[in-house]
Amino acid sequence: MPDFEPVIGLEIHVELKTGSKMFCGCSADYFGHDPNTHCCPVCLGLPGALPVPNRKAVEWCVMLGMALGCTIPEFSKFDRKNYFYPDLPKGYQISQYDQPFCVNGKLKIKEQGTNNKEQREKIIRIRRVHMEEDTGKLLHATVEGKKVSLIDFNRSGVPLVEIVTEPDIRTSEEARIFLKKLHHVVRYLGISDADMEKGSMRLEPNISVKLKTDGNLPPYKVEVKNINSFNFAKKAIDFEINRHIELLSDGIVPKQETRGWEEKKGVTYSQRSKEEAQDYRYFPEPDIPPVRWTKSQISNLKSQICELPDQKIARFMGDYSLSEYDAVVLTDEKETAEYFENVMKQVTKNKGQITAKTIANWIINRKADISKVSSEELIKQISQKSQKATMSDDELGQIVKKVLGANPKAVADYKAGRKNALMFLVGQVMKETKGKVNIEKAGLLLRDLI
Ligand code: ADP
Ligand code: MG
Ligand code: ZN
Repeated sequence: MPDFEPVIGLEIHVELKTGSKMFCGCSADYFGHDPNTHCCPVCLGLPGALPVPNRKAVEWCVMLGMALGCTIPEFSKFDRKNYFYPDLPKGYQISQYDQPFCVNGKLKIKEQGTNNKEQREKIIRIRRVHMEEDTGKLLHATVEGKKVSLIDFNRSGVPLVEIVTEPDIRTSEEARIFLKKLHHVVRYLGISDADMEKGSMRLEPNISVKLKTDGNLPPYKVEVKNINSFNFAKKAIDFEINRHIELLSDGIVPKQETRGWEEKKGVTYSQRSKEEAQDYRYFPEPDIPPVRWTKSQISNLKSQICELPDQKIARFMGDYSLSEYDAVVLTDEKETAEYFENVMKQVTKNKGQITAKTIANWIINRKADISKVSSEELIKQISQKSQKATMSDDELGQIVKKVLGANPKAVADYKAGRKNALMFLVGQVMKETKGKVNIEKAGLLLRDLI
């Protein structure tokens, strides 16, 4: 069989968690609310209603682009993307076509090698990050025996950022790692809850397969729409790769189309043949003036970007001499990283002896409930534990006496010559001291005191 190579590019939609929608004052917090309760003439597309862009949403879009290493062109504009589907009542979506807010970025991914040692790094180029609006939701149902389509416009006009990669990805695992990393960055920036189950982050892999020796992209691609989990994305990609290889092996070029993912069956299914850009009749949105950034606006936004996961991991390894594993786990959630640093700050301030490694261990392995245990409390717990570890003879004596007092039968048994009784008493001492003493020492002391 010839050597095939998959080609994968990703399009990701992220709903921003701004208070209001993209072009009107309606609340963008629609999830779980009664249908059509978050609407106004603008997001219902009533004639004459005028859109006003949401400043926060535009800024967050730009900040995400910056976090992904994009260039922010000085000039940008909104465009109308026309299509006939009733999920947007205007008959078009306000999006960005040829002058998006952010272009030419990149994200570095790390793939763990099979032997868990070798790591492979790879740059995935980001083609663009642009701003658009989400659509309403259609529900196809049967009401009184009739098939009907119900529309909920609460989501219509919610700020939506689209991130588009170059077709640089070659395996479903690379795609999964990229998506997880992007999700991490979005969560760090605090611009979206990126909750896949609620649909606030939606994944669309584009897949094709070529001969490994062929330097050109295949003359087709298949887009799988609206996937809501990293693992489903991986499965859908693998399914498509296999399907394409089978077709290509028979000399058939797969059809360029949009497909859906059917999780129950683990298959993709054809939805529609893919439209071309010209089908959308894009043209500049006449109701919104173009955007021109000043240098100071751009640098101001840049200064608002928090420390991102990769930077934090590197700093944790450098400043605290943590292993990469510990640094990665501690920085997974921003809150955990902050908690760790708070504890470190206090230890340093009080010239404490507790090491970063110990604190990391407590947070990672002992699963200290950081939502309940304050950093002071954690330091106390760690210190108490380590004092027990170097328990004085006095303290041990107290515990041994207590154990003897509490177990008169075992003491009597031992005195009557049953050696096993001593092992039982040693076990009790170990339990009381949480294993912080030497077994032999405990045994000797018990014998002495009996
Ligand atoms: P469209 O205009 O149909 O949206 P684009 O060229 O803008 O297509 O690309 C959309 C996405 O598809 C991008 O993520 C891009 O990387 C990816 N892509 C482009 N060509 C291919 C291909 N041959 N195979 C897989 N993905 C591709
Ligand atoms: Mg597209
Ligand atoms: Zn509205």
